[in-house]
Amino acid sequence: MSVLMKGADVANAMKEDLINRVECLKEKGVAPCLTIIRVGSRPDDVSYERGAKKRMEMIGIECRIVELPEDIAQDSFEEEVRRVNADPSVHGILLFRPLPNQLNEEPVKAMINPEKDMDCMSPMNIAKIFAGDETGYAPCTAEAVMEMLEFYGIAPKGKNVTVVGRSMVVGKPLSMMLLKKHATITVCHTRTADLSAVCRKAEILVAAAGKARMITEDMVGEGAVVVDVGINVDESGNMCGDVDFDAVEAKASYISPVPRGVGSITTSVLAKHVVRAAEKRSGM
Ligand code: NDP
Repeated sequence: MSVLMKGADVANAMKEDLINRVECLKEKGVAPCLTIIRVGSRPDDVSYERGAKKRMEMIGIECRIVELPEDIAQDSFEEEVRRVNADPSVHGILLFRPLPNQLNEEPVKAMINPEKDMDCMSPMNIAKIFAGDETGYAPCTAEAVMEMLEFYGIAPKGKNVTVVGRSMVVGKPLSMMLLKKHATITVCHTRTADLSAVCRKAEILVAAAGKARMITEDMVGEGAVVVDVGINVDESGNMCGDVDFDAVEAKASYISPVPRGVGSITTSVLAKHVVRAAEKRSGM
């Protein structure tokens, strides 16, 4: 029988600490504030925004939404980002990506204040992850995986860890964070030869490829910890992960579900980043 790693349990454990820290900030006259910048109304963005707003309010963080028209021009878009960046009452910024085609995100990545960059857009925060410097802000999803492992007492130190996926949002930064915790990392992608054999050797297997149920039972070693980051919709229109959960469950020692797994932790990590940004700015 495997242990089911539930995102809500991790998020609840984080909540208490964050509420206390927000209270301390407020006693010092600091009101932590997140601003979400959304261009257009993509359903994924709107749904994440709703969850994020609810989580921030639960913790006592103000959450402002800047909604911009889908067809906004580059200069107006940059002007909005500049305005939020310069607003001293804002501690953290989350910009939904991908942006519509007419917009170039490169100037914005360079422009966003690294101290307000809550989801690792800025080259400064990316560099910190790769340098093993924990003073920056990691991508929320990658950090959510680390929170999940920590909550369930799974230490990456000395373990063979395989990460399937090498994106800048999940796979690469997560690999660096696990390396920082002294794991031995293998990063897989579409050109990996004999993916099954590589995955089977993993003591901790993280699936972040975005391919519905691609991790089948034969790809998982006996007693492995399996973390599923994927969010996919299957042929029947149901949400599922990258792991064939029903087949893999019996073989794994720990396994995270989709939904109600890693995805349920990301807004708590976002809140943690905002609290940390507010603490840093106020010298706490
Ligand atoms: P990307 O599409 O940017 O990257 C996918 C990565 O997986 C690529 O590196 C790709 O390899 C690799 N890959 C794809 N197919 C295979 C395959 N068949 N075999 C081996 N490697 C493969 O996706 P993201 O990193 O943005 O997201 C990954 C998943 O995580 C998605 O399902 C996404 O929805 C989910 N996600 C979940 C979040 C959450 O809150 N839980 C937040 C962010 C993402 P290559 O580089 O060679 O193309």
